[in-house]
Amino acid sequence: MSISENILKIKSKLPEGVSLVAVSKTKPISDLLEAYNVGQRIFGENKIQEMASKYNEMPKDIAWHMIGHIQRNKVKYMAPFVSLIHGVDSLRLLTEINKQALKNNRIIDCLLQVKIAAEENKFGLSENEVLNLLGSEEIKTFQNIKIIGLMGMATFTNNQEQLQKEFEILKCIFDNLTHLNSTNYNLKTLSMGMSDDYPIAIKNGSTMIRVGSSIFGKRT
Ligand SMILES: *Cc1c(COP(=O)(O)O)cnc(C)c1O
Repeated sequence: MSISENILKIKSKLPEGVSLVAVSKTKPISDLLEAYNVGQRIFGENKIQEMASKYNEMPKDIAWHMIGHIQRNKVKYMAPFVSLIHGVDSLRLLTEINKQALKNNRIIDCLLQVKIAAEENKFGLSENEVLNLLGSEEIKTFQNIKIIGLMGMATFTNNQEQLQKEFEILKCIFDNLTHLNSTNYNLKTLSMGMSDDYPIAIKNGSTMIRVGSSIFGKRT
């Protein structure tokens, strides 16, 4: 199937309230344009420089999501245009995002990344760390960021029960936070689910799925 057929097929099955991030990392502009031409307007990238160069080449009505692990010294390259940063996992990073957003006279939406996977190499905060971050004095002073939800990556496994369990845990953490509300956080978005596990993620309350290979084909 072609990229456009893949997009249309996935979108036709999405429940209301679930949005699709087309993860276009490593893929050429021609692939992104094919997705754009069937109406896709949210693209996810995991490298800041690659995202910035694609931003320059693509139409301007696209929402660019940074889904990768972020180096603080590169935040400045995406601050002028990034629409949502999924992988925020420290106060230091949030401090830098706030600083660069201020320089660009913007408010940048962020998701806090929670570690749900069993694998050591996956990033993210524990539930307690999320609570500490949201409750910190510093965060109250940040006027140029808004935390709009949580993001998580499940373990790379075929074990459906384990995936189910990990998504349930994240949904539960999320539900415990949605009543909180301040000037710079209000958690409404739950980013979970990738090509191999998004149906389970949606069953467990995902509001945003990040799909790459099921749209654009395998990455090399
Ligand atoms: C690459 C990536 C995806 C997409 O993965 P696929 O399995 O190709 O759908 C989703 N989320 C993150 C954080 C990624 O790095």
